Amino acid sequence: MAGLSADGAAAAASTGAVAVRVAQVSRPVTALGPGRRLGVWFQGCTLACPGCMSRHTWDPSAGRELTIERFSVMWRAALAEGLDGLTVSGGEPLEQPAALAALLAAADAERRRAGATADLLVYTGREPEELAADPVSAAALDGADAVITGRYRAGQPTRLVWRGSANQRLLTRTALGRERYAPFLDHRPERPELQVRVSEGEVRVIGVPRPGDLGRIERDLVRRGVTLRETSWRP
Ligand code: SF4
Repeated sequence: MAGLSADGAAAAASTGAVAVRVAQVSRPVTALGPGRRLGVWFQGCTLACPGCMSRHTWDPSAGRELTIERFSVMWRAALAEGLDGLTVSGGEPLEQPAALAALLAAADAERRRAGATADLLVYTGREPEELAADPVSAAALDGADAVITGRYRAGQPTRLVWRGSANQRLLTRTALGRERYAPFLDHRPERPELQVRVSEGEVRVIGVPRPGDLGRIERDLVRRGVTLRETSWRP
Protein backbone atom coordinates (compact mmCIF):
# COMPACT_ATOMS: atom_id res chain seq x y z
CA MET A 1 0.00 0.00 0.00
CA ALA A 2 3.03 2.30 0.04
CA GLY A 3 2.65 5.45 -2.02
CA LEU A 4 -1.14 5.67 -1.76
CA SER A 5 -2.21 9.30 -1.57
CA ALA A 6 -4.90 10.64 0.74
CA ASP A 7 -7.07 11.22 -2.34
CA GLY A 8 -6.36 7.65 -3.41
CA ALA A 9 -7.53 6.30 -0.07
CA ALA A 10 -10.78 8.23 -0.37
CA ALA A 11 -11.30 7.05 -3.94
CA ALA A 12 -10.68 3.44 -2.96
CA ALA A 13 -13.13 3.78 -0.10
CA SER A 14 -15.83 5.04 -2.45
CA THR A 15 -15.39 2.23 -4.99
CA GLY A 16 -15.34 -0.59 -2.45
CA ALA A 17 -12.81 -2.30 -4.73
CA VAL A 18 -10.36 -3.08 -1.95
CA ALA A 19 -9.93 -6.23 0.09
CA VAL A 20 -8.50 -6.40 3.59
CA ARG A 21 -5.85 -8.88 4.73
CA VAL A 22 -7.19 -10.05 8.09
CA ALA A 23 -6.00 -12.29 10.87
CA GLN A 24 -9.41 -12.84 12.39
CA VAL A 25 -13.02 -11.68 12.45
CA SER A 26 -15.07 -12.38 15.56
CA ARG A 27 -18.33 -11.49 17.25
CA PRO A 28 -19.50 -10.70 19.79
CA VAL A 29 -16.42 -8.97 21.12
CA THR A 30 -17.03 -7.46 24.55
CA ALA A 31 -13.47 -6.74 25.68
CA LEU A 32 -12.38 -4.10 23.15
CA GLY A 33 -14.78 -1.19 23.31
CA PRO A 34 -18.22 -0.59 24.80
CA GLY A 35 -20.99 -3.14 24.46
CA ARG A 36 -21.12 -6.10 22.09
CA ARG A 37 -19.08 -5.58 18.94
CA LEU A 38 -17.83 -7.03 15.68
CA GLY A 39 -14.04 -7.36 15.81
CA VAL A 40 -11.79 -7.29 12.73
CA TRP A 41 -8.06 -7.89 13.22
CA PHE A 42 -5.90 -6.68 10.33
CA GLN A 43 -2.93 -8.85 9.33
CA GLY A 44 0.56 -7.36 9.12
CA CYS A 45 2.52 -5.18 11.54
CA THR A 46 6.09 -3.92 11.28
CA LEU A 47 6.13 -2.04 14.59
CA ALA A 48 7.35 -5.10 16.54
CA CYS A 49 6.55 -3.85 20.05
CA PRO A 50 8.48 -5.95 22.59
CA GLY A 51 5.92 -7.99 24.54
CA CYS A 52 3.26 -7.87 21.79
CA MET A 53 0.63 -10.56 22.48
CA SER A 54 -0.30 -10.82 18.79
CA ARG A 55 2.92 -11.80 17.05
CA HIS A 56 0.89 -14.03 14.71
CA THR A 57 -0.45 -10.83 13.11
CA TRP A 58 2.98 -9.47 12.14
CA ASP A 59 3.53 -11.38 8.86
CA PRO A 60 1.74 -9.39 6.11
CA SER A 61 1.40 -12.50 3.93
CA ALA A 62 -0.34 -14.61 6.59
CA GLY A 63 -4.04 -14.48 7.42
CA ARG A 64 -6.70 -14.34 4.74
CA GLU A 65 -8.35 -11.90 2.40
CA LEU A 66 -11.69 -10.35 3.34
CA THR A 67 -13.45 -8.41 0.61
CA ILE A 68 -15.28 -5.24 1.54
CA GLU A 69 -18.44 -6.80 0.14
CA ARG A 70 -18.07 -9.81 2.44
CA PHE A 71 -17.29 -7.53 5.38
CA SER A 72 -20.46 -5.53 4.64
CA VAL A 73 -22.55 -8.71 4.82
CA MET A 74 -21.01 -9.58 8.21
CA TRP A 75 -21.46 -6.04 9.53
CA ARG A 76 -25.06 -5.91 8.32
CA ALA A 77 -25.76 -9.12 10.23
CA ALA A 78 -24.04 -7.70 13.31
CA LEU A 79 -26.20 -4.57 13.13
CA ALA A 80 -29.32 -6.68 12.70
CA GLU A 81 -28.34 -8.51 15.91
CA GLY A 82 -28.13 -5.14 17.66
CA LEU A 83 -24.37 -5.04 18.15
CA ASP A 84 -23.06 -1.76 19.55
CA GLY A 85 -20.01 -1.19 17.40
CA LEU A 86 -17.07 -2.27 15.28
CA THR A 87 -13.54 -2.63 16.64
CA VAL A 88 -10.66 -2.72 14.16
CA SER A 89 -7.40 -3.95 15.62
CA GLY A 90 -4.40 -5.88 14.42
CA GLY A 91 -1.75 -6.13 13.40
CA GLU A 92 -1.44 -2.56 12.32
CA PRO A 93 -4.54 -1.38 10.41
CA LEU A 94 -2.66 1.62 9.02
CA GLU A 95 -0.32 -0.68 7.10
CA GLN A 96 -3.37 -1.21 4.82
CA PRO A 97 -4.63 2.39 4.64
CA ALA A 98 -6.82 2.04 1.55
CA ALA A 99 -8.39 -1.12 2.94
CA LEU A 100 -9.01 0.56 6.30
CA ALA A 101 -10.61 3.59 4.63
CA ALA A 102 -12.81 1.33 2.49
CA LEU A 103 -13.85 -0.80 5.46
CA LEU A 104 -14.79 2.21 7.59
CA ALA A 105 -16.69 3.79 4.69
CA ALA A 106 -18.61 0.54 4.13
CA ALA A 107 -19.32 0.22 7.87
CA ASP A 108 -20.65 3.77 7.95
CA ALA A 109 -22.84 3.23 4.87
CA GLU A 110 -24.35 0.09 6.39
CA ARG A 111 -25.06 1.66 9.78
CA ARG A 112 -26.75 4.64 8.08
CA ARG A 113 -28.84 2.23 6.02
CA ALA A 114 -29.80 0.37 9.20
CA GLY A 115 -30.43 3.56 11.17
CA ALA A 116 -28.03 2.23 13.80
CA THR A 117 -25.78 4.17 16.18
CA ALA A 118 -23.04 1.55 16.31
CA ASP A 119 -19.65 3.23 16.71
CA LEU A 120 -16.41 2.57 14.80
CA LEU A 121 -13.26 2.18 16.95
CA VAL A 122 -9.76 1.66 15.49
CA TYR A 123 -6.61 0.59 17.32
CA THR A 124 -3.31 1.75 15.86
CA GLY A 125 0.24 1.43 17.14
CA ARG A 126 1.09 4.79 15.58
CA GLU A 127 1.58 7.71 17.94
CA PRO A 128 -0.59 10.86 17.55
CA GLU A 129 2.38 12.88 16.25
CA GLU A 130 3.10 10.19 13.64
CA LEU A 131 -0.53 10.36 12.51
CA ALA A 132 -0.43 14.15 12.34
CA ALA A 133 2.62 13.97 10.08
CA ASP A 134 1.15 11.39 7.70
CA PRO A 135 -1.80 12.50 5.54
CA VAL A 136 -2.39 8.97 4.22
CA SER A 137 -2.90 7.61 7.74
CA ALA A 138 -4.99 10.61 8.73
CA ALA A 139 -7.25 10.08 5.69
CA ALA A 140 -7.56 6.36 6.40
CA LEU A 141 -8.83 7.15 9.92
CA ASP A 142 -11.36 9.72 8.72
CA GLY A 143 -14.29 7.36 9.23
CA ALA A 144 -13.41 6.34 12.81
CA ASP A 145 -15.48 7.63 15.74
CA ALA A 146 -12.65 6.87 18.16
CA VAL A 147 -9.03 5.78 17.89
CA ILE A 148 -6.71 4.18 20.44
CA THR A 149 -3.18 5.21 19.56
CA GLY A 150 0.36 4.27 20.43
CA ARG A 151 2.84 1.40 20.64
CA TYR A 152 2.40 -1.20 23.32
CA ARG A 153 5.09 -0.44 25.92
CA ALA A 154 5.42 -3.36 28.33
CA GLY A 155 7.31 -1.21 30.82
CA GLN A 156 4.39 1.23 31.21
CA PRO A 157 1.46 -0.87 32.53
CA THR A 158 -1.90 0.81 33.00
CA ARG A 159 -5.31 0.08 34.46
CA LEU A 160 -7.02 2.31 31.88
CA VAL A 161 -9.76 0.37 30.16
CA TRP A 162 -8.97 -1.04 26.67
CA ARG A 163 -5.39 0.28 26.75
CA GLY A 164 -2.34 -1.92 27.11
CA SER A 165 0.16 0.67 28.31
CA ALA A 166 -0.01 4.09 29.90
CA ASN A 167 1.20 5.93 26.78
CA GLN A 168 -1.78 4.74 24.71
CA ARG A 169 -4.45 7.38 24.21
CA LEU A 170 -8.17 7.06 23.56
CA LEU A 171 -9.05 9.86 21.14
CA THR A 172 -12.63 10.67 20.19
CA ARG A 173 -13.20 12.09 16.72
CA THR A 174 -16.95 12.48 16.22
CA ALA A 175 -20.03 13.41 18.25
CA LEU A 176 -20.93 9.73 18.49
CA GLY A 177 -17.39 8.91 19.59
CA ARG A 178 -17.48 11.58 22.29
CA GLU A 179 -20.89 10.45 23.52
CA ARG A 180 -19.93 6.78 23.57
CA TYR A 181 -16.39 6.99 24.95
CA ALA A 182 -16.43 10.01 27.29
CA PRO A 183 -17.45 7.85 30.30
CA PHE A 184 -14.48 5.57 29.66
CA LEU A 185 -11.61 8.01 29.08
CA ASP A 186 -10.36 7.62 32.67
CA HIS A 187 -12.16 4.42 33.57
CA ARG A 188 -9.91 1.97 35.42
CA PRO A 189 -11.69 -1.36 36.02
CA GLU A 190 -10.47 -3.59 38.83
CA ARG A 191 -9.72 -6.30 36.26
CA PRO A 192 -9.77 -6.11 32.46
CA GLU A 193 -12.40 -8.13 30.64
CA LEU A 194 -10.81 -10.95 28.65
CA GLN A 195 -12.58 -13.37 26.33
CA VAL A 196 -11.06 -16.82 25.78
CA ARG A 197 -12.36 -18.73 22.76
CA VAL A 198 -11.42 -22.21 21.57
CA SER A 199 -11.95 -22.87 17.89
CA GLU A 200 -10.39 -25.20 15.32
CA GLY A 201 -7.57 -26.23 17.64
CA GLU A 202 -6.70 -22.64 18.58
CA VAL A 203 -7.23 -20.77 21.82
CA ARG A 204 -7.84 -17.08 21.25
CA VAL A 205 -7.61 -14.44 23.94
CA ILE A 206 -9.53 -11.26 23.11
CA GLY A 207 -8.95 -8.14 25.16
CA VAL A 208 -6.07 -6.25 26.74
CA PRO A 209 -4.47 -8.39 29.44
CA ARG A 210 -2.48 -6.91 32.30
CA PRO A 211 0.94 -8.24 33.33
CA GLY A 212 0.56 -11.84 34.51
CA ASP A 213 -2.89 -12.41 32.97
CA LEU A 214 -1.67 -14.49 30.03
CA GLY A 215 0.40 -16.72 32.33
CA ARG A 216 -2.66 -17.24 34.52
CA ILE A 217 -4.75 -18.17 31.46
CA GLU A 218 -2.06 -20.65 30.33
CA ARG A 219 -1.95 -22.29 33.77
CA ASP A 220 -5.74 -22.48 33.89
CA LEU A 221 -5.82 -24.13 30.46
CA VAL A 222 -3.22 -26.69 31.58
CA ARG A 223 -5.37 -27.48 34.63
CA ARG A 224 -8.25 -28.11 32.21
CA GLY A 225 -6.09 -30.49 30.15
CA VAL A 226 -5.31 -28.07 27.30
CA THR A 227 -1.66 -28.05 26.18
CA LEU A 228 -0.47 -25.05 24.15
CA ARG A 229 2.17 -26.03 21.57
CA GLU A 230 2.99 -22.40 20.80
CA THR A 231 1.66 -18.99 21.75
CA SER A 232 1.45 -15.68 19.90
CA TRP A 233 2.86 -13.78 22.87
CA ARG A 234 6.27 -15.49 23.04
CA PRO A 235 9.01 -15.15 20.40
S1 SF4 B 1 1.24 -4.40 19.98
FE1 SF4 B 1 0.10 -3.88 18.10
S2 SF4 B 1 1.38 -2.32 17.12
FE2 SF4 B 1 2.69 -3.36 18.59
S3 SF4 B 1 3.67 -5.04 17.45
FE3 SF4 B 1 1.81 -5.89 18.37
S4 SF4 B 1 0.26 -5.71 16.77
FE4 SF4 B 1 1.94 -4.31 16.22
